[in-house]
This record gives sequence, C-alpha cells and structure tokens, in this order.
Amino acid sequence: MYVIFMGAQGSGKGTQAERIGPKLKLVKVATGDLFRSAIAQQSELGLKVQSIIESGNLVPDELTNAIVQVRLAQIAANRLKDDDVDGALFDGFPRTEAQARALDDILASQDTKLDAVIEIDVPREKLIARLAGRRTCEACGAVYHVESDPPKVEGICDKCGGKLIQREDDKPDSIARRLALYDNQTRPLLDYYRAKGILITINGDQDIDTVTADILNALGQA
Ligand SMILES: [Zn+2]
Repeated sequence: MYVIFMGAQGSGKGTQAERIGPKLKLVKVATGDLFRSAIAQQSELGLKVQSIIESGNLVPDELTNAIVQVRLAQIAANRLKDDDVDGALFDGFPRTEAQARALDDILASQDTKLDAVIEIDVPREKLIARLAGRRTCEACGAVYHVESDPPKVEGICDKCGGKLIQREDDKPDSIARRLALYDNQTRPLLDYYRAKGILITINGDQDIDTVTADILNALGQA
C-alpha cells in the first residue's frame, strides 16, 4: 500500500503518520529525513543536497524526486524480502503538483500506484491553538503539546531528557505564514488527487484515537 498524508501544520498529520505507519507496515517517506540521511551518507545526491541547503536555497523538485526514487526502490526491494514492509507512507511529500506527477511516474515504473491520499482537515482557529501550544525537544525533535500531549515533567523530553522549546516556526507570525503557504501550495494538490478519485478527507477535529480509527477505517484496515 502507498498512501500520502496531507494536512496543515497542527493537523496532527505527523502524529497520525507515526501511529498508522507501523500498524500497516508502511515505511515513512519524509523528504526532510531523506535529505538528512543522504547528507549523512555523503552520497552523490547527498552532496548536491548539502551544497544547495548550505547556500540557503530550496532543494529543487528534480533532485527531491531523484532522492525519493532511490528510497522507493529500496522499499520495493525490502517489500519482497521483509514481511514487515508493505509499502510507504508519504509525509510532507509531494508538496507541488510537479512532485505529485513525478511520484505517479516513479510508482508506475515499479508497477504500483498510490492507493489513497488522506487529508486531515482541522478548522483554522483550532490549528492556531494547537500550534501555539506545541513544544519540541531540542535534542531529539520529539513533539509535545502543553495541553493535549504534555511531557511527564514540564519542559523535559520523556524520550531523551532533552529540553523542550517553542520553535520559531510555532510562534504566531510564523504560524500565519505557514498556514498561508499550505493554502497556496497544497490546496491545488488536493484538487489533483480529488480528480483522481483517491482523496479521503478525515475530520481531524476529534481526539487522536478517533482520528486514527477513522483513518484505519477509511483505508479498509480497521
Ligand atoms: Zn528528546
């Protein structure tokens, strides 16, 4: 199964991806992770990504797609020999229609295709409240929320003991900017997948367990 998770900042997309991925044996494919790992390996693609990021530019679609293609080839190979791998869950990719078309082509070249695109929909004012309460571990990147998902000890990461901070991205000006970016960039993608008949919209304004159950149900795996 190949599934894309889409949702604005604060929709709970990342949390749901972490829950659903292992349940359905789907490997998470997030371009940020792929970039970091390509850079760490100092692969040919990784070196290109590193120089682009260090110069302060965005990684172009062509290079992003190449890196995703390499990862999907690995996943396809693992799928044949590993019972714990049954596909991929895309989180934060594709971001543009050009990337979406490239993904269709990559999957077609592997004789497979997207099964579903899950959109987690949350009203705008709820998104803002969620984001403003978000705290992130500066050591390991784990994400908490002061009300809905607090750490056991205030200000301290449960997983690694690191210090929890409010990222610049989660401050009001950044929140408004990121939500506007989502509207401009991602809405057209939703239309693209709606036209293909594979877009499933989930009500994200419910407790986390209910959203997870609704997604599993929609994917026919509940
Ligand atoms: Zn941590």
